[in-house]
Amino acid sequence: MTAAAAALKEKGVDVVTLSQGEPDFDTPEAVQNAGIAAIKSGRTRYTPVAGVKPLREAIREKLLRDNGLAYDIDQITVGCGAKQVVFNALFASLDPGDEVIIPTPCWVSYPDMVRLAGGEPVLVECHEHFGFKLKPQDLEAAITPRTKWLMLNSPNNPTGAVYSISDLAALAKVLREHKQVHVLADDIYEKLVYGVRFATMAEAAPDLIDRVLTVNGVSKSSAMTGWRLGYGAGPRDLIKAMNTIEGQTSSHTSSISQYAAIEAIAGNQDYVGAFVTEFEKRRDFVVGRINEAEGLKCRTPDGAFYVFVNCAGVIGKVTPQGKVIENDMDFALHLLDQFGVAVVPGSGFMASPYIRISYAAAIKDLQQACGRILAACEALS
Ligand code: PLP
Repeated sequence: MTAAAAALKEKGVDVVTLSQGEPDFDTPEAVQNAGIAAIKSGRTRYTPVAGVKPLREAIREKLLRDNGLAYDIDQITVGCGAKQVVFNALFASLDPGDEVIIPTPCWVSYPDMVRLAGGEPVLVECHEHFGFKLKPQDLEAAITPRTKWLMLNSPNNPTGAVYSISDLAALAKVLREHKQVHVLADDIYEKLVYGVRFATMAEAAPDLIDRVLTVNGVSKSSAMTGWRLGYGAGPRDLIKAMNTIEGQTSSHTSSISQYAAIEAIAGNQDYVGAFVTEFEKRRDFVVGRINEAEGLKCRTPDGAFYVFVNCAGVIGKVTPQGKVIENDMDFALHLLDQFGVAVVPGSGFMASPYIRISYAAAIKDLQQACGRILAACEALS
């Protein structure tokens, strides 16, 4: 949708893009400067596959400080974004036919990554009325002797759902009975929570730490999506296998990004508070306006920068052009083609009928877009 919106914009069409998955803020200045200093001081050569030692040291300290997790430096690996870390973990561990439980709605990449690595995605629906979170009994029902991983993403893309420490403890209780199951905790939105406490699986269930891969990065928390730097911490044998894959693919992420990330992870992070304040204001605005629209409703998400909107109330309606809205893709196209707003249909996240609105956009764009979305709903009969 972002590409379709960009193509329309190129043709001169006025489009507001709310399909993006990245903060609209600039990388903080101190981090920019650390990247520039890395270039100027010649830190522009190959690095160790797992990442330079001072970066892994900074990550080790972060995991201890923020999450109470004690990892050794050889249990940490750095990759080209959290995305590559997730991919390396799946590629390193899945045998053909191994199953990976993916609670849905989920980030678009998980099912395809599992398939690319030879595994079978097992999608488990998480209902809106349960806050889009995985229920322990649904986890239990999905586990088989072939289950290798449970993917847990909190705060969640696309729903913004945040698992509390007791939610995680309840899932851990199920996992204790099934020793073949590992947990991939994708914590990439950790810092973007609004009035709730972030928790991660290895913290909620320290006895399971040998079965957990904790994944995080700087993309969302430090507005560094283009720098491509993420990391994982977990059992030594898994990290070693992931490093083997990294070594034969990208070798490592950019040396410049690694030195900039040391500043992002170990330096002053006061800017995160400013990001959170701004995002929270935008979230409240979008949720308020969307709930005024005929046929749409949404919950107030606790984290990330997305609102996941139930659009069941517009399905079956007819556009002024005479087209029946049969699914969320049709509705997203109605918004884009007739009203100039780009959002992502829920089908991309394995959940329908929904649309995902990203509020990583300036408030004036959000005001304009929400006005258009209300008008788009009113135009349906
Ligand atoms: N995990 C989730 C749930 C995401 O939404 C994203 C990006 O949108 C990523 C991982 C990838 O993050 P990175 O930019 O660090 O690769």
